Amino acid sequence: MAIPLLQKFRVGAYVVRKHLSGTRRYPLALMLEPLFRCNLACAGCGKIDYPEPILDQRLSIDECLGAVDECGAPVVSIAGGEPLLHKDMARIVEGIVARRKFVYLCTNALLLEKKLDQYRPGPYFTWSVHLDGDQDMHDRAVCQPGVYRRALAAIGRAKARGFRVNINCTLFDGAEPERVARFFDSLALLDVDGITVSPGYAYERAPEQQHFLNRNNTRQLFRDIFKRGDGGRRWAFGQSSLFLDFLAGNQRYHCTPWGNPTRTVFGWQRPCYLLGEGYAASFAELMDETDWDAYGTGNYEKCANCMVHSGYEATAVMDTLAHPLAAARVALAGVRTDGPMAPDIALEGQRPAQYVHARHVAVKLAEIGGRKAGAGLAGAPGGRDAGPAPAAE
Ligand code: SF4
Repeated sequence: MAIPLLQKFRVGAYVVRKHLSGTRRYPLALMLEPLFRCNLACAGCGKIDYPEPILDQRLSIDECLGAVDECGAPVVSIAGGEPLLHKDMARIVEGIVARRKFVYLCTNALLLEKKLDQYRPGPYFTWSVHLDGDQDMHDRAVCQPGVYRRALAAIGRAKARGFRVNINCTLFDGAEPERVARFFDSLALLDVDGITVSPGYAYERAPEQQHFLNRNNTRQLFRDIFKRGDGGRRWAFGQSSLFLDFLAGNQRYHCTPWGNPTRTVFGWQRPCYLLGEGYAASFAELMDETDWDAYGTGNYEKCANCMVHSGYEATAVMDTLAHPLAAARVALAGVRTDGPMAPDIALEGQRPAQYVHARHVAVKLAEIGGRKAGAGLAGAPGGRDAGPAPAAE
């Protein structure tokens, strides 16, 4: 089963509680990015294009656990960068699991075998291994040969030790439906527990811009893939049936950016995991002071082609709550892969993109520079304390 019953029950109870209390906006999964440094440089990645002083930053154990407590979401997805480069990652995971949150530790698996002893299998912990297709597809996506083979070996070791392992698959323009379907079939042989699939977001900082899918291509691609797998039923997706239905063009959803709030070394990222348009100092500030209506497909140019799970899975979960029979029908009968698609959101009224990345980087570099100068002064007579230094690798 892709989503364990315990997780379904606890997340379901959380959603119902929030609903009954009349809370309009609440998080489902915290996206925790304790560092941006990675040991790969994938062509479609928009997360690692920072100057060295920012790549050297780490969220401490206390900052990570503080973010988990502030946010209160029942699921924590730890991404980056490559989280296994963080020397305190095992203790961060331990602290989150102790809070009975479901942890998904996203990794490219290059360090997984080496670090496996530091982690314990259990119902609250899942390795989420990045694989963007079969050997050729994946090694091309991560721009390094041999990565697929190493990831497969690591998955085998983790499964043999009793860990839950999910596959996290991002698809780009040019993905061949037949090959993707065969790739999903092959995952059953690895005994993986679930698959998370999503179209790549067109990060403005990603090195290769021509590989991103627009919404029309995305919807047709997913229809063509699901068609080869019995409407998707043949594969154990760890996502709601209505999100898969949305990917195949059968639902017209607006995004729910607060469903997956993101904490990085910059602070709480506005508005979502994919877009860094500003930062809040606390979770409450993020929720209360973000102009949510300024974002989402149809509202903002940078959101025009987004169909990523971090924006739309929460919408699908809310819709499941509102229309449980429709969700059950898709789960039982499979995703519809022919016939008319739902009309998509019009883009005419969207506001133009703003380019703020360079400003945020400059502010952060100045902050780091100030901290270092403060640390230098702290060592001198009469100097001030610069506060705790970020955790090193
Ligand atoms: S559509 Fe939503 S999830 Fe996607 S980039 Fe825009 S705000 Fe973020």
